[in-house]
Order: sequence, then structure tokens, then C-alpha cells
Amino acid sequence: MKQVILTGDRPTGRLHVGHYVGSLKERVKLQNSGKFDEIYIMIADAQALTDNAEHPEKVRQNILQVALDYLACGIDPEKATIFIQSMVPELTELSFYYMNLVTVSRVQRNPTVKAEIQQRNFEASIPVGFFCYPISQAADITAFRATAVPVGEDQMPMIEQCKEIVHKFNSVYGETLTDPKIVLPDNQACLRLPGIDGKAKMSKSLGNCIYLSDEADDIRKKVMSMFTDPNHLRVEDPGQVEGNPVFIYLDAFSRPEHFAEFLPEYQNLDELKAHYSRGGLGDVKVKKFLNNVLQAELAPIRERRKMWESRIEDVYDLLRVGSEKARETAASTLHDVRHAMKIDYF
Ligand code: ATP
Ligand code: MG
Repeated sequence: MKQVILTGDRPTGRLHVGHYVGSLKERVKLQNSGKFDEIYIMIADAQALTDNAEHPEKVRQNILQVALDYLACGIDPEKATIFIQSMVPELTELSFYYMNLVTVSRVQRNPTVKAEIQQRNFEASIPVGFFCYPISQAADITAFRATAVPVGEDQMPMIEQCKEIVHKFNSVYGETLTDPKIVLPDNQACLRLPGIDGKAKMSKSLGNCIYLSDEADDIRKKVMSMFTDPNHLRVEDPGQVEGNPVFIYLDAFSRPEHFAEFLPEYQNLDELKAHYSRGGLGDVKVKKFLNNVLQAELAPIRERRKMWESRIEDVYDLLRVGSEKARETAASTLHDVRHAMKIDYF
């Protein structure tokens, strides 16, 4: 069976280090593994409009920003097809047919939808389009016959809902759709990176992000202002490592070679954590180390972004070509779907 990846992001803002460790890094690794026949990376503008209907300009602007972030991270347009969701109208038609296979109460039970409705104060008046976005996400995944979907942990309920739609469709209309698998990062700290304010999730809409495009000085300021253990007041006090955002970031980003380079008095993260728990290690020293680690990881990404920023025409070109290719694939799946549903009249 063909191995296919489908993944993507909403163009609601530039991408941040949460996206990077939760999903982007994994995508680049999979892209370079040579194990996949096709890779589709979707900029989900239609989905972004479901809760940004009044801000089309914001969505439009951020399509380019997200594309630049992809290229900056090492997504290679020779190996991966980057496309714009709304340029593939077949996805909308698929969503329309899938809506018949899902109940309102099933979508209401989806924990990610529940949390996002709350976060957006939509409780009293949910836009129908927003409510249906898990169904449209199932259309995105199945249109490309994706076998692997590398996304963050918050997307798990979406993939479950997609699998249910696949099974339902196949049992009603006959084997047609491909069953996808979620691919999560193996590093626990990367599953859901907290914000610099210590809130549960770094998120564009919460404004608690370190962006991939941030300049070195902004990164340093953000790191130095990060939340740590609120009870760790004096250097000699024992500190709490668990749940401490600075240590979660170190879990996500630091590698053994960073110690040799930036903090040679410690062999590894375990030694640093043990010292912090014992007492005698100040937050400033840990934050300075984290800053060095992040700067080392993000500098090449920022440089590559600048290179692509000087080639905007090429970026638009590859989005156009990618969208055309994506459309062909989706049209072929839609053809099979219509045939299975017996609505291929002529
Ligand atoms: P929005 O606030 O508009 O929903 P977002 O920051 O949640 O934006 P999305 O575009 O919804 O970003 O998510 C894109 C991908 O990044 C998804 O795979 C998601 O699981 C992952 N992701 C987002 N935030 C994090 C995070 N803090 N840690 C790990 N993965 C994340
Ligand atoms: Mg989100």
C-alpha cells in the first residue's frame, strides 16, 4: 500500500516553537526518511475562516507566513506538496457527503471541539462551519488517502472522529476510503508545549508564544521572562522541576551536546534537574542555558526563512503548483467516492 502523509496548520498566525516540536520537526524527519511515497502539507485557510469569518485579510496574510515557516523548518518542496485548502474545492464536496455519517451529539462529545468552543466563548452561538470542522478535517485526510497524520496531541480526537467516518463510509458504501494513523512525537514534553506564561498550551490565539521568526533578542527576552517554580525564591531553596515550563522546554529542546557547549559543569539534563531540586541552582542560570539551546536551534531556521523572504514569487509559485497537484489527487478520490455512493450519473 502507498504510504501517504497529510498534515497542516491553520493560517491564523506565524508558527511557533510549539508547532515545531509538536509536529513540524516530525514532518521534516518523516519527509527525509524516504519511507513515504507522497507528502501533502495543507495550509487550512477554509478551516481558519470557520472562526475568523470576519477577518479574511488576516487569514490571507498568514498563508504566506505559514508557508515561509514550513520552508524555514526544512520542508522541501521537491519532496512535499504544500497547498492551500480552499484551492481544492473537492474537499468541500467530500465534507458535505460525510456530514450525513456523523451525528450532532458525536461532534459535541469531541473533547477538542468542546475545549475550543469554550476558549472562543462560542457556547451560546457556535458557527455551524466551526462546529463541522472535524468533518471537514476527515475530508482533508481521506481525500489524499493519508496513511500517516503527524500532528500534535490535541488532534487525537480529530483523527478518531476521522477513523469513525472512514469505517462508516466503507461499511455503508463499500471499501473506498483509507484508514489513517496519527503520528505523535515520542518525546512527552513535545506533545503539548506550554506557553511562556506557563499556560497549558502555547497557542497563536493566546499570545504566549516564541515564534520561529522571532529575532535573537526577542527570544532572549521571552526566555528570561518565562514562568518557573513560583516557590523557588532564593537560589539555595529546593526547586520544583515537574511542571516547571523552563524544564519542560529543556526536555523538549536540549541535547547532550548542548551541555558540552554551553554548560560543561553538567553532563546532562538529569544532573541539572537534580541540582535544581536539591537547591543551590538559580533560575537565571537555567534560563540562560535554555536561551543558548533555543538560539542554537532557531538561528538556522531564521536564516533559511530570510532566504525565502527574498524569493516571495517562488513561494507563491510553489503554492500554486502544489495546489494544482493536490486538486488532482482529491478529484480522483472524489470520483471513487461518488461511484461508491452511486451518484456518478453520467
Ligand atoms: P489556533 O490557536 O489558531 O488554533 P494553534 O497554535 O493551536 O492555532 P494549529 O494551527 O491549530 O495551531 O495547530 C497546528 C499543529 O500544531 C497541530 O498539529 C497541533 O496539534 C500542533 N500544535 C499546536 N500548538 C502546539 C503546542 N503548544 N504543542 C505541541 N503541538 C502543538
Ligand atoms: Mg489549534
